[in-house]
Amino acid sequence: MRVSIIGSGVIGMTVAHELATHGHEVTVISDRDHRASVSSVAAAIWFPYGVGRTDRVMAAAATTFQRLVALADDPATGVRMRSGTVLARTAAPDFSYISGVPVVSGVPDGASGVRCDLPLIVTGVYLGWLRKQLDDRGVRLESRSVSAIDDVTDADAVVVAAGLGSAALVGGDPGLHPVRGQVVRLANPGLTDFVLDDDNPAGLTYVVPRDEDIVCGGTDEPHSWDEHPHGDVEAAILARATALVPALRGLPVVSRAAGLRPARPHVRLELLPARPRPVVACYGHGGSGFTLSWGEAADVRRLLESPAIWPE
Ligand SMILES: Cc1cc2nc3c(=O)[nH]c(=O)nc-3n(C[C@H](O)[C@H](O)[C@H](O)COP(=O)(O)OP(=O)(O)OC[C@H]3O[C@@H](n4cnc5c(N)ncnc54)[C@H](O)[C@@H]3O)c2cc1C
Repeated sequence: MRVSIIGSGVIGMTVAHELATHGHEVTVISDRDHRASVSSVAAAIWFPYGVGRTDRVMAAAATTFQRLVALADDPATGVRMRSGTVLARTAAPDFSYISGVPVVSGVPDGASGVRCDLPLIVTGVYLGWLRKQLDDRGVRLESRSVSAIDDVTDADAVVVAAGLGSAALVGGDPGLHPVRGQVVRLANPGLTDFVLDDDNPAGLTYVVPRDEDIVCGGTDEPHSWDEHPHGDVEAAILARATALVPALRGLPVVSRAAGLRPARPHVRLELLPARPRPVVACYGHGGSGFTLSWGEAADVRRLLESPAIWPE
């Protein structure tokens, strides 16, 4: 079938990969290059954060985990397997949401949590790799803004994977809102272990060493549309991160960014009602777009290939 996908962030490009790999004729339409998408700001580690953890979403996370583990065998993909610590701040932490993830060993002395191996995605490398995979599969890319789904012609079906831009395309969605996240990236002298400290009373904190830099975060500010990083916020992030990982002290800043997570009480992956052709909504992945991407892509394909959604 001919499918047009609106959005070239991690969700739109992964759905395009899945559909093109299974023989469909795919076009991706986007008003921003992937390098300017929210996806390029992400840390990005496999971790179900800032998303409603339904059974379907957790199955998508598990599917994606397996796919990323396989991709990590090829350094060109930008996926790396990294060991690190997920800290816990409560007496009886619930780690069921990372069940299935190989636990390496205990946590450092004096801390509480779990030490495990997780896939880490070096976004600049990975999104470029994904884009190349689409080129290799004959996916067409159109650079333009879509103001209405009906403006997308020459397609048997449409997938709306436009992150925060999706609400305007589907006729409104009061639940979809931005959750602003700010990061600062430091030069990496050779650190490899990540630390995730979501429940830090001083604020969301994570330290994620990539190849050349270390992503330090973060913030989670609901309903802020501000895409500019701020100095006072950065200083607070660095203070929290350095308290966790003293080796960060004095490392040079190489870049900084802020992005808007497309948040929703629950991810929306469904067929829109009453349309002349199938239109699938796939958005609202909050802080887990990379974590869910391959599972979401498989679910979109299953839905589109289901005979029940096609008119007689
Ligand atoms: C600081 C930060 C850290 C994060 N860390 C992680 C992490 O560690 N792990 C993880 O899994 N996730 C993480 N995330 C979340 C992740 O980045 C998002 O869930 C993911 O990027 C959402 O992808 P998306 O493709 O839905 O949206 P986007 O990347 O926003 O892409 C949307 C696309 O739609 C296009 N578009 C929108 N409207 C229109 C229109 N009308 N016409 C044409 N094109 C349109 C845009 O140009 C863009 O290409 C983080 C996010 C932030 C901000």
